[in-house]
Amino acid sequence: MIQPNRARLELAEEEEQTRVARVLTYIALAGILFLISIGLKSWFGGHNVHGLVLWGFAALLLANLLISRALNNTRVLKTSLLTSVALLFIYLVASGGESNTGPLWLYVFPPLLFYLTDLKTGTLLILICMLLTAIVFGFPDLPFVTAEYDADFKLRFYATIAFETLFCFILESGRRQARSELLAMATMHEKAARTDELTGLSNRRDMQQCIAIELSRYHRSGHHFSVILIDLDLFKRINDDYGHNAGDLVLQRFARLMESVCRQTDVAGRWGGEEFLLLLPDTSLLQALVLAERLREQVEQTVFDFNGQRLPVTISAGVATVSQASTADDLLKHADINLYEAKEAGRNRIVPRVKNRRPSTSDAS
Ligand code: GH3
Ligand code: MG
Ligand code: MG
Repeated sequence: MIQPNRARLELAEEEEQTRVARVLTYIALAGILFLISIGLKSWFGGHNVHGLVLWGFAALLLANLLISRALNNTRVLKTSLLTSVALLFIYLVASGGESNTGPLWLYVFPPLLFYLTDLKTGTLLILICMLLTAIVFGFPDLPFVTAEYDADFKLRFYATIAFETLFCFILESGRRQARSELLAMATMHEKAARTDELTGLSNRRDMQQCIAIELSRYHRSGHHFSVILIDLDLFKRINDDYGHNAGDLVLQRFARLMESVCRQTDVAGRWGGEEFLLLLPDTSLLQALVLAERLREQVEQTVFDFNGQRLPVTISAGVATVSQASTADDLLKHADINLYEAKEAGRNRIVPRVKNRRPSTSDAS
């Protein structure tokens, strides 16, 4: 009963968020240093107002950084950084910056936007920026517009920024697609490494991991769990008498039966060959014994047929609970000893025995 590995996907998403937060902090810090330096240059170059405005933007970026750090919120940092940068660009286009070079800073925007937002939002925000630039270019008489650009510059500016946006879009969508394909492939391989090919159940490795997780949960917060180690009786005979394919079919059908008797939180696995293991979280020994007995009865009553012949399928199982053991190995050894005892006592039975259970066919014989 392999669960989709959501935890791994969430971890990858979390790692991506941490990476984005780190990049954002570096961008904000670089922006602050850059604005302070250019502001100084403008101030000493006699452009006092321009210098002051740039320092104002530096202070705004610093405030954004400190607030989002205090809130530990990457989204706040992302939104405030983008808003501040957009305001700065509009100011630079409207004022012309120094020597009418203000609009050139707009080239920073497309890669930054596509990295920080999704492709749709990025494209929309760039279009809004272009529209605002068009208003500045088209209405030089507006009160906040002090720069004037010649027609050649405007045309080349639009053409080059459109090309840049297009290439950034193509590159970023390629990067995103490659990333999600890689993640999907990693998830698929990871799932295959935890699954038994024949039955589709968890394999031994996955079961060992699940037991280790349950054991630490038990040590941490006292959540009990139990295991049922199951072995198909005289399975070699089925292979010998009806063929290996019949044996495989029994293993597959038994795996489905196992899944049908357990809960969503239980883990059913193929321990090896014709041995299976059921891991039952939050389950006492008695509850596990009742479940094992139900499974044994169902196997006994189920008709396993192959090419019109009924196959003789029964199971024996050893049950153990975590309070009887200090390690995973101890627990499994305990279940194995009980399984051995069930075999020794004549098969088609569960050890330890549940009192007042209905007698099995083997008891009757
Ligand atoms: P017992 O009741 O004592 O467990 O007897 P058994 O015959 O079930 O036990 P034994 O260990 O002698 O035989 C197990 C058999 O299971 C031998 C092996 O060929 C068969 N087996 C193991 N894996 C597979 C498999 O994937 N497919 C098939 N068809 N048979 C398998
Ligand atoms: Mg065996
Ligand atoms: Mg067997």
